[in-house]
Amino acid sequence: MSRVHHRPGGGFQNPWVKQAVPGFGGLLKWMLVHRTTRPRPMDPDPSVFRRVSPSFIRPRAPVSQLTLTWVGHSTLLVQLAGLNILTDPMWSERASPVSFAGPKRWVAPGIAFDDLPPIDVVLLSHNHYDHLDHATVRRLAVAHPGAFWLVPLGLASFVRKRGVRPDAVSELDWWQEQTVGPIRFTSTPAQHFSSRSIGDRGDTLWCGWALGVEDGLHAFFAGDTGYHPDFAQIGKRCGPFDVALLPIGAYEPRWFMRYLHMNPEEAVTACRELGARVMVPIHWGTFKLTDEAMDEPPLRARAAWEAAGLASDRYRQLAHGETITF
Ligand code: ZN
Ligand code: ZN
Repeated sequence: MSRVHHRPGGGFQNPWVKQAVPGFGGLLKWMLVHRTTRPRPMDPDPSVFRRVSPSFIRPRAPVSQLTLTWVGHSTLLVQLAGLNILTDPMWSERASPVSFAGPKRWVAPGIAFDDLPPIDVVLLSHNHYDHLDHATVRRLAVAHPGAFWLVPLGLASFVRKRGVRPDAVSELDWWQEQTVGPIRFTSTPAQHFSSRSIGDRGDTLWCGWALGVEDGLHAFFAGDTGYHPDFAQIGKRCGPFDVALLPIGAYEPRWFMRYLHMNPEEAVTACRELGARVMVPIHWGTFKLTDEAMDEPPLRARAAWEAAGLASDRYRQLAHGETITF
């Protein structure tokens, strides 16, 4: 396996761009200049985002069925091959190191935590606060002790310290695989970074996850990623995907975010390169992280989908809590 994403001396880097994260000067420019000199688009009232009752199957879906329920942001309940899988579990009110400040949730979780079915597998993409929430990890460790955790390199100690059994965690590098029950999980490349505090940037890895059942259904969860050239390879090695869960939000201003988060048009391009049959947009409508209006990402994603001449029933935008079945 190529190790170009391993930083000499430890930690990780993106193989496709030299510097994906603008330096501290860029952050100051965004916060102090860009935001004060440019009008920012207006957000809608949070009530525009519907929250519907989930209809996943309790306690587990039939082996031949795939269901997806959008809890919000990058958190989904995936029912595949008879297993219940959570992606980037986040049930707290704020995506922040502290409970009194930081991006606040716009829509209550689409599944109340206590209504979760028994969880078999938890997938983590990286350690940002909107994807990895320490309180949620603690709650899952208590309420779902049978869950097996698949995490990128460097994150096992984080979940073990919060109560997950030491032998119930596997750390994977890009392209490494692990089979749990009938599902093969593959950690896939992503263009992003990791950080939870000052001075820890790139210490732990970031990734997406491909889920595949031999002669059965295949799904792809992209995690957080900018657009990069390897989506076709992911589709070739781990597909063909019945569905791709792709992030479409947190992209403005472009000069700051372009290497970290895809915009909706890039997500549609990524979906085509993956060769996925259906696209489900994620990473929007739940936490206000960047400058675009909260309701802009799905409008642009659908427009890009139609402009590309793709069948409209292959783009499946979910409301918070909504379940779709394959
Ligand atoms: Zn992130
Ligand atoms: Zn994110």
